[in-house]
Amino acid sequence: MNQEKVESKIVEILEKGKRFLLLTHKDPDGDAIGSTLALAWTLGETGRECIMVSEEPTAVPYDALPGAHKIMAIGADYGDQVAERGFEAVLVLDCADEKRLGRFAETFSHIRPWINIDHHETNTFFGDINLVRPDASSTAELIFNVIKRGGFPLTREVAENIFAAIQADTGSFRYENTTSTAFRIAAEMVERGVDPWQVNLKVMDVYDIPRLRLLSKALDTIELHLNGRLAMMTLPASVFQEVGAEREDSERFVDYARFIRGVEVAAFVREMDSGGYKFSLRSNNCVNVADLARRFGGGGHARAAGFEWQGQLEKLKKDFIKEVARVLNGKGC
Ligand code: 5GP
Ligand code: MN
Repeated sequence: MNQEKVESKIVEILEKGKRFLLLTHKDPDGDAIGSTLALAWTLGETGRECIMVSEEPTAVPYDALPGAHKIMAIGADYGDQVAERGFEAVLVLDCADEKRLGRFAETFSHIRPWINIDHHETNTFFGDINLVRPDASSTAELIFNVIKRGGFPLTREVAENIFAAIQADTGSFRYENTTSTAFRIAAEMVERGVDPWQVNLKVMDVYDIPRLRLLSKALDTIELHLNGRLAMMTLPASVFQEVGAEREDSERFVDYARFIRGVEVAAFVREMDSGGYKFSLRSNNCVNVADLARRFGGGGHARAAGFEWQGQLEKLKKDFIKEVARVLNGKGC
């Protein structure tokens, strides 16, 4: 099915239904939250009910987006009660694979159809209907297309969520996925009443002090490997506790490692509360970090990807550096 047909099929389901369940990936970022809120708000305007659930409360700064307080943090244990409410479809947004849904993947698997709307190149097409476009800057771009195709209302609140999501995934219109389409949609959102400065103050340039203290600690850990082509930062869980920071406070730290002149691959390694380590990967020019992440069971995009890994840190780092060396040598870059 081509993109138009898939969009039409999704619109048909949305038009027929009255109640939908919306899910996104764990540790949701700006695109995950913004896309979910945009779609839920739009459908709400047309008298449909959307239930958005997540395992954890929506974290700062995205809790400031319009409608964010409606996302239900139900933990993994209350999914069954939600499932009993009856839904015409499950919409999974910005999620490359079912693993990233945690236990919800299982809890809601009996509700059909599953509609998978995403832009990760490692998407596994786990849905009954899959609107997967790795060439899209963000999932929000795909939600925008669905809204347009359905002729659904696009209020200022919806526009703000779409704008914030595109801004987040393009690194404020700087990353390689900053296409003319991304700019066009963003421009339309501004025409619909979004004030970029205000969005920026709400969700980009607003740090709590622990975030800066954490950044300072993270910068201290920068190591260069492979003749300066790989930069790594590492934060143990204890440092988060020490400065009073949360998981989300380290979002985008990996960019500082990527910014170093001569670096091709940047990795930020965070010890997770649940044990194990989360690797956030970035690249500048030639290494496809989604491929790299896939080798460790993760995924993402060519320039931004990640994976979770259990085991002993020093061994992990050694294995990872070896893989990066192999990729860099193979590429001749
Ligand atoms: P971040 O480093 O900001 O957490 O994630 C960068 C990109 O990689 C995002 O698009 C995110 O969805 C993807 N990503 C991060 N961690 C994982 C993971 O464990 N599995 C998969 N499939 N994708 C990930
Ligand atoms: Mn995204």
